[in-house]
Amino acid sequence: MALVDGSSWDVVVLGGGLAGLRAASVAAAAGASVVLLEKQDRLGGSSALSAGMFWTAPDLASYHQRVPDGDRELAARLIAEYETDLADIRASGVNVDDEPTLGVMGDFGRGYSFDVRSYLGILEDRLRARGGEACTGVRTLGIERTDDGRFLVRTETAGGRAQLRTSAVVLATGGFQASPELRAAHMPAVGADIVLRSNPGSEGDGLRLATSLGAGLAGDLGTFYGHLVPHPVTGFTPDRFMLFSQYYSSHGILVAADGRRFAEESRGDEILNQDLAEVDGMTAFLLFDDEVRSTYGVSEPFANFGRVDRFELAVAAGARHATAGTLGGLVRQLGALGVDADQLTRTLAGDVEPSRLARRVSRAAPPTTHQLERLRRGPFYALEVQPAITFTLGGIAIDPGTSALDRAGARIDGLYAAGADIGGFNNYGYAGGLAPAHLTGSIAGRAAARRALGALTGAHEGATC
Ligand SMILES: Cc1cc2nc3c(=O)[nH]c(=O)nc-3n(C[C@H](O)[C@H](O)[C@H](O)COP(=O)(O)OP(=O)(O)OC[C@H]3O[C@@H](n4cnc5c(N)ncnc54)[C@H](O)[C@@H]3O)c2cc1C
Repeated sequence: MALVDGSSWDVVVLGGGLAGLRAASVAAAAGASVVLLEKQDRLGGSSALSAGMFWTAPDLASYHQRVPDGDRELAARLIAEYETDLADIRASGVNVDDEPTLGVMGDFGRGYSFDVRSYLGILEDRLRARGGEACTGVRTLGIERTDDGRFLVRTETAGGRAQLRTSAVVLATGGFQASPELRAAHMPAVGADIVLRSNPGSEGDGLRLATSLGAGLAGDLGTFYGHLVPHPVTGFTPDRFMLFSQYYSSHGILVAADGRRFAEESRGDEILNQDLAEVDGMTAFLLFDDEVRSTYGVSEPFANFGRVDRFELAVAAGARHATAGTLGGLVRQLGALGVDADQLTRTLAGDVEPSRLARRVSRAAPPTTHQLERLRRGPFYALEVQPAITFTLGGIAIDPGTSALDRAGARIDGLYAAGADIGGFNNYGYAGGLAPAHLTGSIAGRAAARRALGALTGAHEGATC
């Protein structure tokens, strides 16, 4: 069924991932008439591709240590409301681990694995049970403010164009990682070419629409979440996003083609992933020993993840690699693959002068000799890796109530943002994706319904799709 041109809603939500579905179901439960528009042919976004670890910083102090440039006011609110949202997920009846996982990202973060795909289905059912709609295959051409303080949302589907009127809009389109143009504009290190480890629909529509309505930006738009993946890599399909991620890289050392390092690797794969984007050519070799390969290299990062040999999978996917009984043998092989072998020998002997191929040495910490102690016993392995982008960390400026803020920091009435569209909660340092999406979705859904059901109630005029 096509969208009904001229239909009127209390709340329009853009994006059918966890943030959008949560916002829509919460707004509908509060009594608002809600339509959720999803651009792709199915709901779920990156949320449906994820590992389902509902996690963040356990307290504000550890958040600040891990994300020193993050939005502390917003973080304080999200951390305070984490347990309430977790209880809501448990109450839905989906599987949630009884015991928390500690040290979700290296030694940081606390969370619970849950059945995210079933939960997304429950949110959709709840939305529909309250008379709301979730329409797929809908492109939003623009959003304009109307004279009565509401919004006109101009959409297009295969069935034609339709204009919707609404009192509140929630932008939850999942970031701008899938747009080569926006990456080139806002992410000078990454540019147009980087492996996408995300749903393909998150092309920055939320960011564009918000700025067209006067919104400001928050956080460093050049920063992003993702993981190192093999280079080159074939068959990098969503079912392999996690299998090909080298989560254990913090237990090895990373060397650029000049044989030098550019980061203290122990800070975590999601940090190294961003640091490698600052290295010319965006490739490096990850060196590790047999103990690391047979422990961290095969272990499951989260519960129910399965044990796989990530080195073997990467080699099968086409990655350049080397294996040798001694470090000297590994260096010779890497020399044949184009790495400066003499310098690599000096690096392994303790030269921590950063790589000249790195435009910027790691913001987290420069290389130290400490990490070299991880290379203990052979056989030794080297795997060529490259960064991959899952979602962008900079985005729409919001206040802790998820209201979009204009460039002067004032609230834009009726406009909210949630999930990976927001900027500032994660900022180079990373403190979770699913939990912030759920939490900001909850806050935005409640706020949007309140606004719509207050002075500016929009009458809902029948089913639309
Ligand atoms: C492989 C993988 C594993 C992950 N594992 C975890 C994990 O275990 N824990 C964790 O915390 N995080 C994890 N993440 C990150 C997490 O999935 C994201 O942070 C989270 O899903 C963001 O939710 P969202 O609702 O903001 O965006 P999404 O779930 O990506 O949803 C955004 C939706 O908006 C749609 N859209 C885009 N433009 C428009 C438009 N104009 N109109 C309508 N719809 C639009 C997109 O098509 C998409 O469906 C993982 C991600 C991946 C890819």
